[in-house]
Amino acid sequence: MLKRVSLWLALSAVLSGLASAADYTQFTAPGLAKSQITHDDIAPLIDYYQQQDWLEVSELGRSVEQRPMYLLKIGHGERKVLAWSQMHGDEPTATAAIFDLLAVLDAQQQQQAGADSKRAGWQQNVTLYLIPMLNPDGAERNSRFNALGIDVNRDALALQTPEGQLLMQAAKKIKPHYGFNLHDQNRYHAAGDSKKPATISLLAPAYNEAREINPSRHAAMQLVSAVKPLLDKVLPEQQGRYNDAYSIRSFGDTFSKMGISTVLVEAGGQFNDPFRQQARQINVQLYLSWLDLISTGRYREYDLSGYNSIPMNNSGGMKDLIISNINLPKADGNGVLAKVDLAFTAGGNGRGQVVLDEIGDASIYGGYYTLDASGMRYSAGKAYPLTGPLTLTAERYVQLLADGYSHFSGEAGLLNNSSGMPVAVNPRGVNKPWPQRRLTTTFLLSKDNAVQLAVVNGRLIRLADASLLDAFSGN
Ligand SMILES: [Zn+2]
Repeated sequence: MLKRVSLWLALSAVLSGLASAADYTQFTAPGLAKSQITHDDIAPLIDYYQQQDWLEVSELGRSVEQRPMYLLKIGHGERKVLAWSQMHGDEPTATAAIFDLLAVLDAQQQQQAGADSKRAGWQQNVTLYLIPMLNPDGAERNSRFNALGIDVNRDALALQTPEGQLLMQAAKKIKPHYGFNLHDQNRYHAAGDSKKPATISLLAPAYNEAREINPSRHAAMQLVSAVKPLLDKVLPEQQGRYNDAYSIRSFGDTFSKMGISTVLVEAGGQFNDPFRQQARQINVQLYLSWLDLISTGRYREYDLSGYNSIPMNNSGGMKDLIISNINLPKADGNGVLAKVDLAFTAGGNGRGQVVLDEIGDASIYGGYYTLDASGMRYSAGKAYPLTGPLTLTAERYVQLLADGYSHFSGEAGLLNNSSGMPVAVNPRGVNKPWPQRRLTTTFLLSKDNAVQLAVVNGRLIRLADASLLDAFSGN
């Protein structure tokens, strides 16, 4: 069921935090490299681990819609660690990482079984409790919220949800010293002013409005400082520190107040990595590092300089598509009025409808796809009227675009699009000589009066080879 490795060396390298990403992928749990992970995806993995004797798997309880949540217990040490993932149902990366961690530990057990040796060092000193997928109903809907529409991570005080109640009960029963609150953040967070995505963001959440640092929060910050060298190695320039504004209803902040040294881990976007597989791998490396650091207590040797040196998350610092240096025509169509950049984002982490959300100077943003359109001229393009059935091949479509048609008007049902490319029928925002903020997503870019590029519903088409160029493809 799980990919195994026989190379103890590779495993040792992973455990010491020195493994390259290539080594690490050998421990990938199957079937989880996708944008939505549901209870059905993890059920066979849970079944497998229920049959293994090196960990305990129990049902933590049931969600609103009676889907089971699980509590996994590993090790038998005095230092207790509680980690939970996917309390926001549409944030699955850490759930995959937890099962990768289990694959590493399982491989380690197989390796050690024959040698009749002791368990991994940290399991002598640490007991690890894992709750993968705290919000299976939200996972089923690919939604942040639970089946009642409640944000479970704003339910730490009121405890109105069974999911929140179960997490709080687990914390009160287990009394963990350390908590790991595992999330995904939207892909528009940049790491500081790097113009690159914050692929991993960390936070030791505040326990009061003043954001004071008590011994418990200090320890959480030290845990972050202690993994800074690892992050510098695997993710230079793409680490972020999450905002520490006190959020009284959130579990991280509440656990912090309860004296649990809590670290928030946010998996973020990465170029050409729609399913966040790099963040997933780094999550596992972080978990292994933290288990070792907690077991040995070595994290106490770190001051807070590592923590404080992580650049703040720059919310909205990333765009999905940036086209820069576009010449806008004068109102009469002659000459150049202005040279501008256009920046687009899509909702739903790149899977939703594309929106033009910046016109002007986009130089402060990073783009998942960027294009310098210097020398190219904007035009809204003409409407091609649908007066009868039209089968649109790629060849025909490119010819229409080259002839200055950017979109179709009339009855959408008359168009049979077999071009493999997006089409716009009766789009808004095409009736002005200039692009309109939050409206225009369909237009043409020309050089020397020849159309080079078409943007259609925010998707970028290159006419020369009829290809889609943007970062939305494959998401
Ligand atoms: Zn979240």
